[in-house]
Amino acid sequence: MKDSVISKFSARELDAELFTPFTISSGSHRSLENVLFTLGTAGGEKGCGEAAIATHITGETRARTVKSLLRAGELLTGRDAADYLGAMCLLEEELDGNRAALAAAQMALLDLAARLQGVSLWKLYGGVTARLKTDITVVIGGAAAAYDFTLKMRRRGFRIFKVKTGSDMDEDFRRLEAVGKAAPGCAVYLDANCAYGAREAERFIRELARRGIRPEVLEQPVPKDDIEGLAYLSRRLPMPVCADESAYSLDDVFNLIRKRTVTAVNIKLTKLGFLRAREVWALARASGIKLMMGEMLESELASAAAAGFAGGLGGMDFIDLDTPFFIKDSGMRGASFLSKNGVYFLDRVKAGIGVAPGARK
Ligand SMILES: [Mg+2]
Repeated sequence: MKDSVISKFSARELDAELFTPFTISSGSHRSLENVLFTLGTAGGEKGCGEAAIATHITGETRARTVKSLLRAGELLTGRDAADYLGAMCLLEEELDGNRAALAAAQMALLDLAARLQGVSLWKLYGGVTARLKTDITVVIGGAAAAYDFTLKMRRRGFRIFKVKTGSDMDEDFRRLEAVGKAAPGCAVYLDANCAYGAREAERFIRELARRGIRPEVLEQPVPKDDIEGLAYLSRRLPMPVCADESAYSLDDVFNLIRKRTVTAVNIKLTKLGFLRAREVWALARASGIKLMMGEMLESELASAAAAGFAGGLGGMDFIDLDTPFFIKDSGMRGASFLSKNGVYFLDRVKAGIGVAPGARK
C-alpha cells in the first residue's frame, strides 16, 4: 500500500472550559463542545480537523456530527490523500446536510495533504498574507464586565473590539460606551446576530453616532431571511453591512451580491466547507464587496486552519478568529505562532495547519 493512502480515522468529542460564557443575542456557549476528526495514512502521517458545534446558530448537533464524521472516515479509507481535491469534492456531495462535519473532514484532509507535501496549509492556499491580526469579541453582558474585559485585552495589545449586541438596546448602549472608555481610539465592529428589525437597526446606529460611536462594520443586523432589511440598511448606513447568518451557502452569497443586498460577507468554514468558502472568496473579490473571515467557537486547530485559508488567499478586510482566547485549555499543541495579542504568524507554520492535539488527558 502507498504511504499516502488513508488507512485509519477517528472522531471523538473535544471538550474544554471557557474563561467566560460566549453569549450572543441568539444563545450562549458555556463550554467548548466540538468534535475532533483524525485521519491517518499507511505511512504514519496524520491530519486533524475540528467540527464546531453551534446548535443555537446552525441547528447541527454533536451526535449527528460524530455520526457524519464516522461515515466520512469510511468513505475516505483506502483513498490516496494525494488526491485530496477529489476527496474534498466527494465529501461535499456526501456531507452537505452537516456542514460542521464537512468542514472538519475537509480540514483533516488538507492538513494531511499539506503535511505529506511538507508545506503549511497557508502555503497550499497561496501564501499571500503572512500575518493576520484578529479582533477580540466583547460578548453580551453588563457594562462593568465589558469595561474590565476590554481594558484587559487592550493592555494585552488588541486594538479591534467586536461587540455583540441585540439583547437589550439600553444595555447595548452602556456596553458600547464602556468599550469606548476602556479602549479609546480603537476600532469597533458590531454583530447583532439577527436581533433587530431594519428600522430599529437604523435607529440604533444613528443613536450610537449621536454618542460619538462609529462602528467600522455592522454584521447581521436583521434575521437571516430579511433580505429587504439588509438591502435597506446597506443603502442607508455609512458603514459596510455584513451578511453572516444570511450567507450560509454559495447560492445565498450569489443572490446577495447579484441583488446588491450587502457590502460585506462573513466567510466561515463551518458554514461553507473549504471548497465553497474559496468560491465565496472569489465571488466577493470579483464583485468588490468586503470580506470578513470568521468562525464559530473553535479551538486553536480550526482557528489556525481558518487563518491559513484566509492568509493564504489574502484580501480579507476583517479578521474575526479570536475564540482560542476564550478557551482555557483545548489540549491543542503547536499554536505558538498565534501571539497573545492576537496575531497569526502564518509563515512560522512548518507543515499542515500547524496545530495538533497533544497527549490525551
Ligand atoms: Mg456573526
